[in-house]
Amino acid sequence: MTDARAPERVLIVGASLAGLRAAEALRKRGYAGTITLVGDEPHKPYDRPPLSKQVLSREWDAEKVFFRRQEGYESLGLTLMLGQRARSLDVGARTVTLEDPQAPVLEYDALLIATGARPRKLRGTAGLSGVFTLRTLDDALAIGAALAQHPRVAVIGAGFIGLEVAASCRKLGLQVTVVEALPAPLVAILGDAVGAAIARMHLDHGVTLRTGVTVSRIEGQGRVERVVLSDGSSFEADLAVVGIGVTPATAWLESSGVALADGVVCDHTCATNVPGVYALGDVARFHNTLFDEPMRVEHWSNAVEHAQLVAATLVGAPAPAAQPPYFWSDQHDVKLQFVGRVAAGDHAEVAQGTLEQRSYVVAYGRQGRLRGVLASNAPKQLIRGRKLLAERASFDAALSALREAQAVGPVVAPL
Ligand SMILES: Cc1cc2nc3c(=O)[nH]c(=O)nc-3n(C[C@H](O)[C@H](O)[C@H](O)COP(=O)(O)OP(=O)(O)OC[C@H]3O[C@@H](n4cnc5c(N)ncnc54)[C@H](O)[C@@H]3O)c2cc1C
Repeated sequence: MTDARAPERVLIVGASLAGLRAAEALRKRGYAGTITLVGDEPHKPYDRPPLSKQVLSREWDAEKVFFRRQEGYESLGLTLMLGQRARSLDVGARTVTLEDPQAPVLEYDALLIATGARPRKLRGTAGLSGVFTLRTLDDALAIGAALAQHPRVAVIGAGFIGLEVAASCRKLGLQVTVVEALPAPLVAILGDAVGAAIARMHLDHGVTLRTGVTVSRIEGQGRVERVVLSDGSSFEADLAVVGIGVTPATAWLESSGVALADGVVCDHTCATNVPGVYALGDVARFHNTLFDEPMRVEHWSNAVEHAQLVAATLVGAPAPAAQPPYFWSDQHDVKLQFVGRVAAGDHAEVAQGTLEQRSYVVAYGRQGRLRGVLASNAPKQLIRGRKLLAERASFDAALSALREAQAVGPVVAPL
């Protein structure tokens, strides 16, 4: 039930996963005040993970990505303002001004900042057609339409989104070259050995990998024709998808007084330095008590957990326990799942399977403590890993527990 201290007017900026889930969680907890959900995209809230997977590979119709139909919004009882971008925040007056001069200034008792992140652009490519980033449904639809012309595809950056785009393009039978500055994909997150295993998996599926080089420039007469690399080599391409990371969408908060540092700085309850203002999802740099460190996490489940946490705080209910960050990624015939928080120099040990197989489990540790578990086609071990992290297990105890567990399932595709 709603607590007597619950705010009367909740304003949520960012009409996507974290924002919508917060509205839903508030209603589920009996919150009866007003909720206004403002988003700058023209679409109702939708799910981003399928964009690089099922939507690009044409397994799904784009309609499937939406979280709710119209009736679903009516029952939720909120004011949905789409196509409206927040321009500034006045924390003294407790108001948000939108870019649209015709739009009303929005008042709030509690403000939830859920503006996510925007993809970084590759310098020097403005004005060149055929260069894309992938963050929104409109991006996915534009890339999908371009892929229908059977282009030779360059993927710039072998992060999760780049690798998923490469896998989807291969499913469509397209020629794909992935360019990555590091020696192998994902090495900064998962380590050298796992990075090499992921590289092999992509090579096996016909992806061309150019690692240890950067893009010097993309050339073409008005549209993409050639990608020139830092080692002087080049390759021909008709389309480039740039996946070189994101920056948190905080420009509208710059002179507001809300503390910013590569995201909106907040505590373990997602509360910012300004009373009544919370940040959640990809935009939030929050304090994770399980790891006792500040972190900004760009994963789906983090946005949902933040939404639950902020809703509980607003109605005066006990906060759910802190969770280890979790993500999944689908590439070719592999589901990669990772739980935890690792950094360069962490110790990594294979707990089940071998990296030459598609199914394996890797445990990561630091100073004797378990820091993360990677499960490749091994979902049960991922659940076990999550439990071990929540229990703050030692690395050795976790490794034994993971090794004792039932062996990973059948090898999907031995090398
Ligand atoms: C292609 C793709 C695939 C992904 N796949 C996976 C996956 O497999 N596994 C996984 O764990 N995670 C995945 N993610 C990440 C996951 O989707 C994000 O972590 C999640 O969407 C974050 O939700 P959010 O609500 O915080 O931010 P967002 O989803 O980015 O939503 C923020 C919204 O706020 C809007 N906005 C920004 N500024 C303003 C403003 N000033 N005024 C109004 N509105 C504004 C934005 O346009 C956007 O609609 C993927 C992301 C992408 C893009």
